[in-house]
Amino acid sequence: MSNHNPGRRRFIKTTGTGVAAGIALTVLPSWAEAGSNYAGNPFSQQPLPYDYKGLEPVIDAMTMEIHYSKHAATYAKNLSDACTAEKVDINSAKLEDVLHNISKYSPKMRNNGGGHYNHELFWQCMKPGTATKPEGKLAAAIDLSFGSFDAFKTQFTDAGKNRFGSGWAWLVLNGDKKLIVGSTANQDNPLMDISDLKGTPLLGLDVWEHAYYLKYQNKRPDYIANWWNVVNWEFVQKRFEQG
Ligand code: MN
Repeated sequence: MSNHNPGRRRFIKTTGTGVAAGIALTVLPSWAEAGSNYAGNPFSQQPLPYDYKGLEPVIDAMTMEIHYSKHAATYAKNLSDACTAEKVDINSAKLEDVLHNISKYSPKMRNNGGGHYNHELFWQCMKPGTATKPEGKLAAAIDLSFGSFDAFKTQFTDAGKNRFGSGWAWLVLNGDKKLIVGSTANQDNPLMDISDLKGTPLLGLDVWEHAYYLKYQNKRPDYIANWWNVVNWEFVQKRFEQG
């Protein structure tokens, strides 16, 4: 791999931690064995860093399987098609650059470029087991920005609960290197030039119904309350320290 993609390096490091912890890396995209370019290309869907049932009981295996192998896989496929149509060379372009300039591309690129980026981030923002709390510099920054970890959680939870329709809640490191919380609609994200909420997304929560409906039905607040138990704070911390 060339060195143009720091996000990929983070992925490898984080996955390495997962291997060390004994987490099975068993779930590959359906087309991964066909010799496609999945390995390392940020425009392609990467292996899920845990089994479909790895996040149970918070997120059930059926939801994970459909979410990853159907919804997220479709965003990746449609992103690939949009890149072909709009002459984005996925072997040299940076996905972040496309998102930074998304107003210059089609709605298809916006919906699927965002959808792909957001889901790839989302899988890594979670891990099996019981979540702890942020530590070190991130913990200090959260206290400084929000008053306390609990106050941050409340603000983030409200951002997810109050996002009308489909979208995402985010913890973002903005251009002034300050932590902020907010939400975006549909598959938009804070990297996009069309987004009101701008910065580097550190932690993202999918609040589309497809992320929780099978287990939680209409009870989005219950999904969010339980989701805190699977947040991968080590991953979020690394993003913060590299941000
Ligand atoms: Mn989703």
